[in-house]
Amino acid sequence: MAAAAAPAAASSSSPIVNVHALRKRFGSNEVLKGIDLQVQRGEVVCIIGKSGSGKSTLLRCINGLETFQDGSLEVDGQPLRHGDAQAMRALRQHVGMIFQNFNLFPHLTVGHNVMLAPTLVKQRGAAEAEAHARRLLERVGLADKFEAWPDQLSGGQQQRVAIARALAMEPSVMLCDEITSALDPELVGEVLKVVERLADEGMTLLMVTHEMGFARKVSDRVVFMHAGRIHEMGPPAALFGNPQTPELKQFLSALH
Ligand code: ADP
Ligand code: MG
Repeated sequence: MAAAAAPAAASSSSPIVNVHALRKRFGSNEVLKGIDLQVQRGEVVCIIGKSGSGKSTLLRCINGLETFQDGSLEVDGQPLRHGDAQAMRALRQHVGMIFQNFNLFPHLTVGHNVMLAPTLVKQRGAAEAEAHARRLLERVGLADKFEAWPDQLSGGQQQRVAIARALAMEPSVMLCDEITSALDPELVGEVLKVVERLADEGMTLLMVTHEMGFARKVSDRVVFMHAGRIHEMGPPAALFGNPQTPELKQFLSALH
């Protein structure tokens, strides 16, 4: 009995995302200079920092969209190995990613956008995939949009479809890269509300955001990236209320 219980106990306490000494170069430009980051199950971690500090590259490495030169990366206990197609497929099933520009398929209805990946990758039957997609659309407040086309929706609605589409793969972590940056200000709130609800439901979230109010309210930890490194990291009250480095002080004061 003890032997059977051990793996479950180990997996529930091991981090969902485990980045160790990660280095990434584009040509001679070293963009990630040794990143160590663990995200625990159910944790919400927001990444802040100036443009060009490496935030998107870090998320893209975790999602397997970028190769890296040094260090190691595990998602849900699976080491990420480029060139190992099976490992990469497994990784993609563990990681959901949402981008700034929604990237919905314009030639598919909202419902089919949400159904596509589970149908292709998980080989779900059409009826089961549709029922699941309808539940997910309801969860993001778009129950009545199953038959709509992406271009009939507002940006905020499209981004909520993108969230439902990512959830359809039942990921163990969601990566969000500035998902409200392309939205008109009045549409930001509806998207953040959906993300906040996911966080409340226990979803593990790693998100790059400029929404400091949201980061302060919803995250368990905030990571400040500067020049390819994690420059400061801690609970939001500490990072926002008592920044330690001149770089973070300057970053925060430039926001006002
Ligand atoms: P952030 O998301 O914090 O704004 P990025 O991760 O996008 O930063 O970019 C970090 C650095 O990497 C920048 O100097 C950027 O120009 C460079 N970079 C990002 N993507 C590429 C790429 N595909 N090819 C070359 N350089 C890149
Ligand atoms: Mg970016």
